[in-house]
Amino acid sequence: YLDRFRASVAERDTVADGPRRTQDRSTEVVGPFPERFRNEPDTDPSLGANRDWARRAVAAAPAVVGAPELTDPAAVDAVVERAAASTWRAVDPAARAGLLREAARALAAARTELLTTMVHEADKTVAEADPEISEAVDFAAYYADRAEELDPARFTPDRVVVVTPPWNFPVAIPLGGCLAALAAGAAVVIKPAPQVRACAEVGVAALHRAGIPADALQLVHTDEADAGRRLITHPAVDRVVLTGASETAALFRSWRPDLEVLAETSGKNALVITPAADPDLAVADLLRSAFGHAGQKCSAASLAILVGPVGDPRSKVGRRFRRQLVDAVRTLRVGPGTDLSSTMGPLVGELSPKLERALTALEDGESWLVEPRRAGDGQWTPGVREGVAPGSWFHRTECFGPVLGLMAAGSLDEAIAWQNATGFGLTGGLHSLDRDEIDRWMERVEVGNAYVNRHITGAIVQRQSFGGWKGSVVGPGAKPGGPNYVTQFGVWTDPADLP
Ligand code: GLU
Repeated sequence: YLDRFRASVAERDTVADGPRRTQDRSTEVVGPFPERFRNEPDTDPSLGANRDWARRAVAAAPAVVGAPELTDPAAVDAVVERAAASTWRAVDPAARAGLLREAARALAAARTELLTTMVHEADKTVAEADPEISEAVDFAAYYADRAEELDPARFTPDRVVVVTPPWNFPVAIPLGGCLAALAAGAAVVIKPAPQVRACAEVGVAALHRAGIPADALQLVHTDEADAGRRLITHPAVDRVVLTGASETAALFRSWRPDLEVLAETSGKNALVITPAADPDLAVADLLRSAFGHAGQKCSAASLAILVGPVGDPRSKVGRRFRRQLVDAVRTLRVGPGTDLSSTMGPLVGELSPKLERALTALEDGESWLVEPRRAGDGQWTPGVREGVAPGSWFHRTECFGPVLGLMAAGSLDEAIAWQNATGFGLTGGLHSLDRDEIDRWMERVEVGNAYVNRHITGAIVQRQSFGGWKGSVVGPGAKPGGPNYVTQFGVWTDPADLP
């Protein structure tokens, strides 16, 4: 047996060039799904050849920002007017779909360059960056199928859509927004987040190489003042896609009250763990959900709501859970993405006042189970605070960083009530192997993405379209990676045809 095992490892390790991706994520499919679409597999890090590929990729020089920053509103006008004049909307949906499939291939072929740029510019670890590239490929292929479903006689696309993505997913979110609007037949102007301009440029260049016309997809960098405002308020812009803070959505609306905004905004996400959970699985998924990308994801777990004995440090189950959690948190290695042994990247950007408070101050009744420490140069080690009370500041504030709060609930019903009382409703999870608990939770939880016995970040196109409820969404709320997202970028000519 051992010989056979060694031989198979040796064989796998002989793949010399390029990553070999054997982890087909579609094996997790719970179907039934349309025939054609298949999720793009991530790179399998258990293969030596893939680890070599990753090492080469992070050692390479990243792309640098090439496009200039526009500060003159008249220059923005010219960009938007060129988009509005594009003939993209007249391209037959089947031909559009063909180009989007080309775009999927071009993005898959650009995996190395995208990885290099993400690790250097966005400080992503390889393990975080690689699946994001798969997600971008998935968006292109999945929205190609949606484009083919549109009947041009009945659906009128938006003229110009502006995409304003965040910095935390510098490839999947910007490209996903562009690809969805393009699939609908709209022309797109994308304004990348200032921290990750090169990532967006590399992705958009791949789309242009695939044949998406230059006037139908334009990338501009603007300041956040006059030029940026002009981009949002130009009358030819029919819709803005925003992933970011609720305040930004409100700001855009204050500039232009009739603006159509599709926004995924903030979250305060909890994972409920009951005594019927598999504790090993629960701790591993909690760790990944809370501290992946240093907690700087809208989808990240910021609360663990522990039910009954799990939340009681005097019980055997509670003691064991704490010990496992503390051990697991201490294994995280905080460091830059270019160091392949880092398992948690540094914080991106300045500390917000909310995150600073979450990392340094406790509320009444709270204590540190693991105290976060400043580790130099934008880095913080992860923190776990205990005794978070329902209705408290930490219970209801999105802090966007590597701090997890523990709450101890008397029952599953109480845990669900607390999970639903954060003001947000983006992601949420339950760890329990008890069928009745799972059914009860699924029926009552008020989140866009509800995950059972799984980490709560990393939604996968088609299987887990991504979006929220309550304070986590602005607009009609159809979710990226889901069946109705593309049709939000236009109007149906006959109201009877509304989906
Ligand atoms: N789609 C990502 C996920 O499921 C989150 C995106 C975000 O944080 O904005 O983890």
